[in-house]
Amino acid sequence: MKDEAIKQLMNREVERQNRGIELIASENYPSKDVREACSSIFMAKYAEGYPGKRYYGGCETVDEMETLSIERAKALFRCRYANVQPHSGSQANFAAYRAMLNPGDKVLSLALNDGGHLTHGSPVSFSSADYTFVHYDLGNDGRLDLEIIKRRLHEEKPRLFLAGYSAYPFAIDFAAMRKIIDDYNAQAETPCLFMVDMAHIAGIVAAGLCQNPCDYADAVTSTTHKTLRGPRGGLILTNREDLAKKINFAVFPYSQGGPLEHIIAGKAVCFLEDSKPEFRAYMQLVLDNTKACCDELMKLGCVCSGTENHLFLLDVLSSFGINGKEAQERLGEIDITANKNMIHGDTLPPQQASGVRFGFAAATTRGCTKEDAKEIAHIIYDALKGEADKQKLISRVQSIVSRWKNVLELEA
Ligand SMILES: *Cc1c(COP(=O)(O)O)cnc(C)c1O
Repeated sequence: MKDEAIKQLMNREVERQNRGIELIASENYPSKDVREACSSIFMAKYAEGYPGKRYYGGCETVDEMETLSIERAKALFRCRYANVQPHSGSQANFAAYRAMLNPGDKVLSLALNDGGHLTHGSPVSFSSADYTFVHYDLGNDGRLDLEIIKRRLHEEKPRLFLAGYSAYPFAIDFAAMRKIIDDYNAQAETPCLFMVDMAHIAGIVAAGLCQNPCDYADAVTSTTHKTLRGPRGGLILTNREDLAKKINFAVFPYSQGGPLEHIIAGKAVCFLEDSKPEFRAYMQLVLDNTKACCDELMKLGCVCSGTENHLFLLDVLSSFGINGKEAQERLGEIDITANKNMIHGDTLPPQQASGVRFGFAAATTRGCTKEDAKEIAHIIYDALKGEADKQKLISRVQSIVSRWKNVLELEA
């Protein structure tokens, strides 16, 4: 690398990531093999269109590679159709909405402040400009409430019901949602479609450790870089041939040009890695570590959400009398990276928030054990309580990461 400025920044980022404990629930570390595919010469190839139907010549190997990526995605999620071209999760949602809706159509989703995503109808996202979003609330316990969903469905008569979240720590009963929608559709004038955005939990789905939304939803969107542990990108799955065609059109030519074939190669590597028993064991450990840390914080007297997946929320306002922004900064000072997050019924504005979201997908990839997860709970507690010496806290973090793998040397 001759570019000294970028080289230095790359090295600094490697150093930062190796030094710290990454607890941002949406992050993960892809394997060396995934990164190698992503830096391959596929990056130089224009391949607008789909395998066998390209707008450029020279696509023979790209066609074979993208077909392999599609086949692996279908096998991993036991689904009939896959589009591996979306540049990101947001792009996947953009295309999935376009495939299923007309502009202005009504969508019933969970609001961002309750754990949804920007693309689920936030006022600052394209989604709220193009479609009419209405929301369902969580129950008083912060969990999805099927009665509330049923009631909102009958009140709002949406064209699309959307499940799948960014900060929801519990298991989701997709089968029960399907039944509610089927019951509604049996007497509705215009049927409601069911879409799941599994961006956060795709790895848990791939490992077979929760319900597979592909068995129930009309279309499923995802990212590939969160629990799935692949390159940064998006994915759309469906079992419906009619929707598969519309989805392909909505991705290209409607919303994207040339696909990122190098990233599609990285996705192919990740889909194969995720089909192995080792990945299932990894994902089980992610769940165990998340629970171990959450349980330990609760034993220390903290107010936590509880967890049934790879993340949980800590109510830092109730537990320590500080807001989420302050908590995020304090943890950042001792090389623990996490993000402030609204909690159910939050009284503070989003810039402050009352909670912090923690996830163990990335830390577990580097080698985090259950004992480490418990010790991390104690470090978080001591840091947020604000009485411990900062240098001592940093040493405790260092002692944990010194046992972990380097972020550039990870095997699947
Ligand atoms: C992360 C996420 C997305 C968007 O992914 P990007 O790749 O950042 O665009 C969409 N939906 C949900 C639920 C997410 O958590």
